[in-house]
Amino acid sequence: AIVFENIEKSYGSLKVLKGITGKIERGEVVAVIGASGCGKSTLLRCFNRLEAIDSGRLLVNNVDVSQPNFSNRQLRQLRTQVGMVFQQFNLFPHLSVLENLTLAPRQVLGKSAKESAQLAGLYLEKVGLFDKASAYPEQLSGGQKQRVAIARSLCMNPQVMLFDEPTSALDPELVGEVLQVMQQLAAEGMTMVVVTHEMQFAREVAHRVIFLDQGVVVEQGSPHQVLSHPESDRLRTFLSRLN
Ligand code: ATP
Ligand code: MG
Repeated sequence: AIVFENIEKSYGSLKVLKGITGKIERGEVVAVIGASGCGKSTLLRCFNRLEAIDSGRLLVNNVDVSQPNFSNRQLRQLRTQVGMVFQQFNLFPHLSVLENLTLAPRQVLGKSAKESAQLAGLYLEKVGLFDKASAYPEQLSGGQKQRVAIARSLCMNPQVMLFDEPTSALDPELVGEVLQVMQQLAAEGMTMVVVTHEMQFAREVAHRVIFLDQGVVVEQGSPHQVLSHPESDRLRTFLSRLN
């Protein structure tokens, strides 16, 4: 679980997160929505300490991630437990698909080449790309790259997966194949925090939706509540601008 209490984060004089409180339960799928610049990516990046918060409390699987003297060992452990998938895939371009998947299990988890390759095969199969193991990222479509990125994260056996607009860089016809993989993960009980503009995905797959606006949680609740019965003008305005 991720527990966050009154977290604040600024970049210089720009206050981005202005006291955010909430909880991501184990097995929960939470969609985070909100306008560009409202702090969605920053919030996700705090969860795996790509950014350190300025104040407040943040617990990830009962580990206090807010303490200033977080050791490198703790950081490695956190990044192992919390996988992240980015809009731009972030695959290593000079490595094959298989090498992309086996690098961290070998270097961070100390697995053997054989064991990590077996694991990689398993997850490539799961995302429907077993036959692409020896391809290079540039030979893949955007949807395939993103499925490789998801498989790569899964190879670390994470307890939580963070997705930052995983389909925003994709051509429309490739969005579905990625959402389908995410939907399958959700159905298997993965804990997921998904920043997304795909409202249909939020509606069908998320257990809860959090609406951020200017660094605060303005509304949260079931997809039905938040997306169909917005209570605030800010959320109503945001939803009306989507289509
Ligand atoms: P989008 O939907 O466009 O991805 P977002 O909700 O993810 O937006 P963030 O990326 O969290 O927004 O950014 C929130 C604010 O913080 C923005 O005003 C952004 O310009 C600023 N910001 C983000 N990262 C940095 C950084 N490393 N240094 C300075 N300012 C930053
Ligand atoms: Mg963002």
